[in-house]
Amino acid sequence: MNRAAVVGAGTMGNGIAHVFAQHGWSVALIDTAPAALEHATATIRTNLDRQVKKGTLPPGATAETLARIATATELQAAAGASLVIEAASEQPAIKFAVFEQLDHVAGPDAILATNTSSISITEIAARTRRPSQVIGMHFMNPVPVMQLVEVIRGHATSDATTRAVMETAAALGKTPVEVHDYPGFVSNRVLMPMINEAIFCVMEGVATSESIDAVMKLGMAHPMGPLQLADFIGLDVCLAILDVLQKGLGDDKYRAAPLLKKMVAAGYLGRKSGRGFYVYPPSS
Ligand code: NAD
Repeated sequence: MNRAAVVGAGTMGNGIAHVFAQHGWSVALIDTAPAALEHATATIRTNLDRQVKKGTLPPGATAETLARIATATELQAAAGASLVIEAASEQPAIKFAVFEQLDHVAGPDAILATNTSSISITEIAARTRRPSQVIGMHFMNPVPVMQLVEVIRGHATSDATTRAVMETAAALGKTPVEVHDYPGFVSNRVLMPMINEAIFCVMEGVATSESIDAVMKLGMAHPMGPLQLADFIGLDVCLAILDVLQKGLGDDKYRAAPLLKKMVAAGYLGRKSGRGFYVYPPSS
């Protein structure tokens, strides 16, 4: 059986573990916080049950899939994996430390992938003795639903590593797209300036949040308006990614709208804090 390890069991990690286990992989799901592991297992169960109810998975699939996932609090649990996907918190110091340790724990042939949204794959790879086997595997939220995996080649990533990860993503039922390692990759480099411009429009009084979202949904066939999407992603996350784009590309065209900075400072982080460009009732 194929063996994967997923490091970080938050929003993305639980979805990644779910998809690998659903496709027959045995998965070590690792998080330093035991509560995150408990929460992740409960979320995976709920999401699998939903798929069974809809008929997209056969009866019994929930128990079978969960049986392939073993949880752990130590990185040592990644030892037997041929592919490790790191989905820990988006902080360079955390990622660098995790990769330095994984390099010692994982077998010499193992591929080490990161789900980072904005940290340089090349810099992460340079923390290991195997930069040709380090790559970005950028899943989208919610992982079991979204088709795309942005596969990001670091400066030293080999063709063989890229091919193996592209094939794995396809075998998971996803559509992999290969890109190179520049700040924001393709997804956030194209998305975040649009979100930022929508925020400038709110700030300048061009239109209300509802009107801006309506223009983009009804006029451009976007399934969600940019401000609704910003609330969903988290305004603090949007601000951090814009800062990465501005610094990494050295161009002030990526500067975050002052209104975005002010909202983050005020604790208006979007859906997760109950308030962003819209207000969310506690249960939403
Ligand atoms: P999250 O905050 O929901 O989960 C992160 C988890 O990592 C937490 O459970 C935390 O306990 C754990 N963690 C922290 N340090 C650790 C360590 N040293 N070892 C093991 N576990 C550790 O974050 P998330 O939203 O799931 O994001 C994870 C990664 O995925 C980030 O790199 C983020 O940029 C990326 N990403 C997020 C989204 C999204 O929409 N949320 C989309 C694409 C990519």
